[in-house]
Amino acid sequence: MPNIEKSIIEEVLFSGLKQKNSSLYIKREDLIHPYVSGNKFRKLKYNILEAQSQGKKTLVTFGGAYSNHIAAVAAAGKNNNFQTIGVIRGEELADNFENTLETNPTLRFAHNCGMKFKFVSREEYRDKNSERFIANLKNEFGDFFLIPEGGTNELAVKGCEEILSSDTEQFDFICVSVGTGGTISGIINSAKKHQEIIGFPALKGDFLTDEIQKWTRKNSNWELNTDFHFGGYAKTTDELIEFINNFKTETKIQLDPIYTGKMVFGVVDLINKNYFAEGSKILLVHTGGIQGIEGMNTILRKKNSLIIERK
Ligand SMILES: *Cc1c(COP(=O)(O)O)cnc(C)c1O
Repeated sequence: MPNIEKSIIEEVLFSGLKQKNSSLYIKREDLIHPYVSGNKFRKLKYNILEAQSQGKKTLVTFGGAYSNHIAAVAAAGKNNNFQTIGVIRGEELADNFENTLETNPTLRFAHNCGMKFKFVSREEYRDKNSERFIANLKNEFGDFFLIPEGGTNELAVKGCEEILSSDTEQFDFICVSVGTGGTISGIINSAKKHQEIIGFPALKGDFLTDEIQKWTRKNSNWELNTDFHFGGYAKTTDELIEFINNFKTETKIQLDPIYTGKMVFGVVDLINKNYFAEGSKILLVHTGGIQGIEGMNTILRKKNSLIIERK
């Protein structure tokens, strides 16, 4: 079960920080659940309540084969007695389902939580929000509550407004990784006037500003730093993996390669380049993503690349 009480704030003492005139802290949303992303539970909280109040028995959502969101919906469904259906990109994964479960830790976890899968081609997946696609799903699975890919909707943003609290008011800057923009939007909405939010997109693309504006209305206390996507979504470099490994060795804090590793790398780089005013108090939001490491390591091993050390 997720436990938001576990999301504590700690100081980050890291030798990679060459500039000592600011202080760096981290909010451990990753500790909310041992395996599933903290921010994904925040995003699901009010969606689950809404599905319950509508009397729905089934949750349907979409994702890639290593998606943190898929793992989170499967776990939340199990905790709250929903049947869950994951529409997964990649029809080839259905060909040898036993092998898929053996080799893919995310889908294995979701399967063990009771999630059923519908594997679709990349082409069908692109069409997933169309009326035709949704009607076909209703034919196949009956009535359900639909959660969008990545989980971002109005109720998700409302859940992420609860990431900040009175404990975070002392910080001048709040830094967070950005995928679809739901998490940062909640943080923007609940930040105090003196706080500046910096988002680090984990992917390339310029749709995020519009998306975030849609959820945050008039607020202007934020910016995106697009310099740390490392080639795009789920792309990594040896430099990033090495950073994650060093950070873990020194701080005992595990970062993930898709979201939080890139964001923390970026913030450390900005601190070292004197981006922040002297005396700034900076808060990193560790959104989790730990479940994705095993899957990423499988991919990195195949490429003979450096892998993320676990222990
Ligand atoms: C999904 C995810 C994000 C991005 O959240 P959005 O609301 O999609 O922007 C950041 N970090 C982790 C670990 C995630 O799983």
